[in-house]
Amino acid sequence: MTEENDGPGNFVAELVLAELAADKHGGRLMTRFPPEPNGYLHIGHAKSICLNFGLADLAPQGQCNLRFDDTNPAKEETEYVESIQADIKWLGFDWEDRLYFASNYFEKLYELATTLIKRGRAYVDSQNEEEIREGRGDFHRPGVNSPDRERSVEENLDLFARMRAGEFEDGSYVLRAKIDMQSKDLKLRDPLMYRIRKVHHHRTGDEWPIYPMYDWAHGLSDAIEGITHSVCTLEFQNHRPLYHWFLDQFEGELPTHPQQIEFARLNLTFWVLSKRKLLKLVESGRVSGWDDPRMPTLAGLRRRGYTAAAIRNFCERVGVSRRDSEVDVSLLEHALREDLNATSPRVMGVLRPLKLVITNFPEDEVMNFEVQNIPDVESAGMRTVPFTRELYVERDDFMKDPPKKWWRLALGREVRLRGAALVTVNEVIENDAGEVTELRCTWDPASKGGSAPDGRKVRGTVHWVSAAHAVDAEVRLYDRLFQAESPGKETGDYLDDLNANSLEVLTGCKLEPSMSSATPGDRYQFERLGYFVVDSKDSTPSRLVINRTITLRDSWAKLAKKLGVKSKPKAGKKKSKGGKREGGKPNASKSS
Ligand code: ATP
Ligand code: MG
Repeated sequence: MTEENDGPGNFVAELVLAELAADKHGGRLMTRFPPEPNGYLHIGHAKSICLNFGLADLAPQGQCNLRFDDTNPAKEETEYVESIQADIKWLGFDWEDRLYFASNYFEKLYELATTLIKRGRAYVDSQNEEEIREGRGDFHRPGVNSPDRERSVEENLDLFARMRAGEFEDGSYVLRAKIDMQSKDLKLRDPLMYRIRKVHHHRTGDEWPIYPMYDWAHGLSDAIEGITHSVCTLEFQNHRPLYHWFLDQFEGELPTHPQQIEFARLNLTFWVLSKRKLLKLVESGRVSGWDDPRMPTLAGLRRRGYTAAAIRNFCERVGVSRRDSEVDVSLLEHALREDLNATSPRVMGVLRPLKLVITNFPEDEVMNFEVQNIPDVESAGMRTVPFTRELYVERDDFMKDPPKKWWRLALGREVRLRGAALVTVNEVIENDAGEVTELRCTWDPASKGGSAPDGRKVRGTVHWVSAAHAVDAEVRLYDRLFQAESPGKETGDYLDDLNANSLEVLTGCKLEPSMSSATPGDRYQFERLGYFVVDSKDSTPSRLVINRTITLRDSWAKLAKKLGVKSKPKAGKKKSKGGKREGGKPNASKSS
């Protein structure tokens, strides 16, 4: 329907479809999502999850496994294993009973390594790390053979068995594949297959004093599982020859010889997507945790109020290609607003309350208005909003000395209280400090429902909440975590680009009474203010805590415009050029 819908395509899906048509894998189709359990999943992982599970859906017999790549014992934690599963399920995908761990295959991998030794394709090297690095050479310098390269098969088998038995200290031996020290491909210069590491593992405990290297473990785990398409991100492209070399050694001996296909990882403006960098934000206390609503983690996005559907739609629109790029975060925000607009019930909430008293409205009268929860969506139902003499309105909606074109509340002006009535401000009450504490108004009883009886023009509409019925809440206004489009690019350190105003906490907010039944995770549109969600961690029945998910419109684009900074043109919406005040070219910066 819109331009975004015919996105940039998905070359992996096209390839898989073509292979299915050609019956290339005997009708088989199996992918996997292989997270390393060393952090929480982020929006980049969502792209990979949507891709891998989406590919499996291309054929009725297709399947996608969840496999934890837990080959590196030191960094992995059970908390991550659990959060990753919860996040994938939340995103809407199901690995059924195919939950695997690379550590499930340690025994099999050990057996295969022994086979490789027997075939003269692997050897135990007693050089230390430094010597191995030196011997490997570089782009300009060929490698030199290790003095241990020609060790006999018997000796290699013996040493490898003793490595496995825990007889040696860390670093004293490694197992290397015997490939080619002169290869132009540095990865093929006798890569490491096993290291001795006497480290506790979250699943295998202290059973293994040796651990397989990523390249050895990954491809073979794929083949052992019967994966047909091993989809990974571009930085693994130069691992591909090694991936296939290991698989070639066991041609016909394992269920499949998967093909590795690389795609470009997702990068988003105004965010960092690296577990290492995110971990640092958590550990340094700059955010409250992996699920801080400002984090690009799935746990953070969920707590912020993002929907799984919005994230899936976004991934779909971004497409899958081999070209590295940075996606404008407003594309994600657009997908979010689109979903929330269609699904969020509307309510009224006042964030910075100012009392408004209608002096000609009876003291104890309550006028109830029936309003639709979602405009034009009958199935979303109706609710009752009470209107009384004392209301709260938004402090920002009043101005003491307004300009001529101010349509909201001001002394002597008439304004619409949304869906209820027209009121005119007659008196502004201030305290000794000159702070406005109350507005005294009169209403036109003939304007019940908010429309002018005589058709007179009342431009401004503000939201309101009945003071006696209001539900108190704490509202957390979240904004972008980083203020730079590419955090760290100019400053050299992404932490220097943190947005100091990414969180503002408001207490004493006043919400309409229907919010008393709100439960954690419930999403709303607060009329005129944006989309909000009840916090899933801190909100309790006695203390309602609400997070702002996102404003109704992109306030950053507006800000950029105000500052004269060139903002990216939005697809689909081309404003007519040369607006009244914007003659001439936009300046990079307008500060005078
Ligand atoms: P990070 O760089 O954030 O630490 P990673 O690649 O080390 O991520 P893994 O747990 O190894 O994290 O990732 C699991 C899968 O998700 C891999 O197949 C990886 O390629 C993919 N993935 C990770 N980050 C992205 C991203 N930004 N875009 C798309 N896919 C990604
Ligand atoms: Mg990784």
